Amino acid sequence: MKLEVGCCRPPENCGPDLVRYRLASRVVKGQKLGGVPDEWVVIEPAYRAAQLLERLHEDPEPGAPLLGRFAFDVRLTWLRNWVNGSAGQRLGLAPIPDSPVSLRALRRTLAIELAYRPGGMLAAKWHLKHIAVATTEGYVSKPGGAQAELLAEVNKHEADRNVELVWTEFRNYQQGIMPAGPGARELTEFFAHVDGQITDPTAPKIQASDREILNLLTKRARILHLGTANYCWFSDPSRALCLKLAGTPHADRPLAGMCDSARCPQATHHQHHRPVWAEHAEQTKTFLGAIGTTRRTDRTRLQADYDRARRVIDAIDAAAISDTTTDDA
Ligand code: SF4
Repeated sequence: MKLEVGCCRPPENCGPDLVRYRLASRVVKGQKLGGVPDEWVVIEPAYRAAQLLERLHEDPEPGAPLLGRFAFDVRLTWLRNWVNGSAGQRLGLAPIPDSPVSLRALRRTLAIELAYRPGGMLAAKWHLKHIAVATTEGYVSKPGGAQAELLAEVNKHEADRNVELVWTEFRNYQQGIMPAGPGARELTEFFAHVDGQITDPTAPKIQASDREILNLLTKRARILHLGTANYCWFSDPSRALCLKLAGTPHADRPLAGMCDSARCPQATHHQHHRPVWAEHAEQTKTFLGAIGTTRRTDRTRLQADYDRARRVIDAIDAAAISDTTTDDA
C-alpha cells in the first residue's frame, strides 16, 4: 500500500549476469505514524510487477500511490463465509474459526499448512518466493529447522570438545607439562587453583570436589577458542590484541584472522602446537636462504618472523620439561 510511483530504483549491475533490483518504500512496522523511508532488494518478477503497475497507472505522477488504499477485511469475511458455508463444506475445507483474520495471519497459516506436509518446506519456499529455505523455516516457525538444528549440534560438539581439551591440558599440568605463551602463567595459576581443590584435605567429600572441578573446567572451556597454532582464552575483550589491532575493542568474539598469539596475553601454546610452529620456522628459514641480500626490508621481516617462531618453539620445549616442583620454586 505504501509503494509509490517512482519506487523502482535503477537496476545495479553487480557482475556478469548479476543484477540487483531494489524497490523504495517505507517501513511502517514498529515505526512512528507514516513510517520511515527504506529500500528492499527484490527478485526480478517483483520489480517487473511494480514497473507494470506504474505503466497501468491512470495518473503516474511521481509520489502518487502505486496501488492506492485497499482493504481486505470485507474480502476476508466473504472468504470465511464461503469456507464455512455449504460450498466449503462440500469441498471438505476445515472451517475458519471465529477469531480475527488478517492478510498476515492468512499468509502465515497457508505457509504452515504447506510446510508441515511431507516435503512441504520446499513447496512453501517456492510458493512464498523466499530466496533461502532458512527464511521459510523462520516464517513457519518450524521447530528444529535444518539450520537451527545444525547450529545447535555444532555448538554442542564444540562445547564438548573444549571441555575435553581443557581436561587434557589439566592432566598435562598435573604431569608437569606446562603451557607456554603469554597467557601461560594465568592458565597455570588456574590449574593450580583447581588442583588445590582436589588435594585440599579440608574438602568435605571427594564427590563434591569432583563436581566443583568439572564446573570450573567447564567454565574455562566456554572461553576457549582454537587458533591454528595456539589456544585463545577469550576472557576479556579489552585484553584481546586482535580486537585492539582491528579497532573493535568491544566485540564479543576474537578475530582469529588477526591473531598474534606470540604477543597476546590471552594466548597459550601447547605441545601439539609445536609442529605448526616448527614448520613455519623451517619455511621461513628456507625463504631467508633464498632471498637476495639487496631485499633488506623483506629480510628483516622474515628474520623477525623466524626469531619469533624459534622463541615460541623454545618456550614450548622448556615448558614440557619443567615440572611442578620447578614451577613452584
Ligand atoms: S590475539 Fe589471538 S589469542 Fe589474543 S584474543 Fe585475539 S585470537 Fe585470541
